This record gives sequence, structure tokens and C-alpha cells, in this order.
Amino acid sequence: MNYKINQRNKVLRAKERGIYDKKTVYEILDAGKIAHVGIIMDQQPFVIPMSYARVDDTIILHGALNSRICTSLIEGMPACITVTHLDGLVLARSTFSHSMNYRSVVAFGTARQIEDRDRKTKALESLVEFLAPGRTSDCRPPNKKELNATSVVEFKIEQASAKVRSGGPKDKQADLDLDVWAGTVPISQHYGDWQAAEDLKQGINFPNYKEGIK
Ligand SMILES: Cc1cc2nc3c(=O)[nH]c(=O)nc-3n(C[C@H](O)[C@H](O)[C@H](O)COP(=O)(O)OP(=O)(O)OC[C@H]3O[C@@H](n4cnc5c(N)ncnc54)[C@H](O)[C@@H]3O)c2cc1C
Repeated sequence: MNYKINQRNKVLRAKERGIYDKKTVYEILDAGKIAHVGIIMDQQPFVIPMSYARVDDTIILHGALNSRICTSLIEGMPACITVTHLDGLVLARSTFSHSMNYRSVVAFGTARQIEDRDRKTKALESLVEFLAPGRTSDCRPPNKKELNATSVVEFKIEQASAKVRSGGPKDKQADLDLDVWAGTVPISQHYGDWQAAEDLKQGINFPNYKEGIK
């Protein structure tokens, strides 16, 4: 199913790279950990990196009660959220044709505060599960004081676009004969070895969901 396409989310530049189906948008969101959340306050744009979780067609965000970004989102301010994966450098024969391989999403919508205590706890759990699936069944849940100190918002994705570039350099025909190396340098992110906290109690083993986080 596609997001509605109009002037706001229609990819104009390199339009063949624009994708609007929810499946692709969800895949790109689900492969990320950091979202950049953009708002405008008093004509000043702010773009703030935040952790997030996608739950169906919403993006869950949280922050301190009095943070500017959470206060603005709670007030129903329109926001724009982007998630980007850098998949490779594209080294072309001319400086002009250099590029990057990437998958990115731009999502538009508004957020509302989650006030109900059970929904708020669940939303906070979804943030932890998004980072480390299986983790919440292990951890102490938030207490009343912690819940009261935290704003949790759900951003409904009204419209979104994905843009994906893959493949090699697109040099001009006339440059193909140049004696310059050209190609791609793949980039991938991966987890390192788990390192126990210095103050970890004796006798605690790695959790069994560790296998799913690699
Ligand atoms: C890692 C990375 C590096 C990039 N580097 C550059 C750079 O150095 N210079 C440059 O000009 N461009 C770069 N781009 C592409 C850039 O994101 C824009 O797509 C491009 O600049 C066109 O911008 P525009 O406002 O003219 O887009 P338009 O095509 O006019 O944008 C219209 C709508 O298309 C959608 N859209 C646009 N870009 C994206 C996107 N990347 N992902 C999802 N939806 C999108 C949005 O919904 C937007 O509102 C880069 C992209 C990535 C992911």
C-alpha cells in the first residue's frame, strides 16, 4: 500500500529513486536506530537526533518533560522525521559524478502525547525492544516517578517517501576512458563484542536474546 503522494512528499530530484510503498518505508525505518526530528519554532528550524521505535504506522519518541522537542510535539506542531542509512561511497572518474549509495525515509505528520499509564509503559518498552528485542522481559519496568518525568509521543505518519540509490558510478561517456579508478566502497554497520558493565553482579550470563542482536 502506498502513502498518498502530493507536493509535500513527491520526490522531484532523481525521481526514479522515489518509493512510496509502506513496506519499503517500514523496512528502512526498522533497519535504523536514530531519527532526525525536524520542527519549526518561532520561525527557527530545529533538527534533533532521537532514538525511536516504529509501531505500525506511528513512530514512538520520548524525552524529558520540559525538552523543547517534546513540548513542541505535544502541542501538535507539524514535524518531519528522517532516517538515513549510508550504504557506500560511489567514486566516479570525475569529481562531479561522485555520489553515495543510501536508503532514506522522509516522513511527515503530527504527534500526540501518550498519557495513559499502561500505553505509556508499553510505548517505552517498544523503544527498548526496537534497540534490543527481548530486553524488556529482563529489565525492571519504569516506576511512577520515572514515568512522570518522561514525555512519550506517538507520531502518526501521514505521508512518507523513501529514496534509494544503489549501484556504481554514473560517469559521462566521455570520462570512461580516463585512467582513474572508479567503483564503490560499501559501508555497513555492525555490533561489536558485548562488554559487561564493570559493576555487573557476579554470576550473570549473557541473555539468551543476545543471539538475535548481531
Ligand atoms: C546519505 C545521503 C547523502 C546525500 N547527499 C546529498 C548532497 O550532498 N547534495 C544533494 O543535493 N543531495 C544529497 N542527497 C539527496 C537529498 O537527500 C535530496 O534527495 C536531494 O538534495 C533533493 O532535494 P530536494 O529538496 O530538491 O528534493 P525534492 O525531490 O524536491 O524533495 C521533494 C520531496 O521528496 C522527498 N525526498 C527528497 N529527498 C529524499 C530523501 N533523501 N529520502 C526520502 N525522501 C526524500 C521528500 O518527501 C521531499 O519533501 C543525499 C541523500 C542521502 C540519503
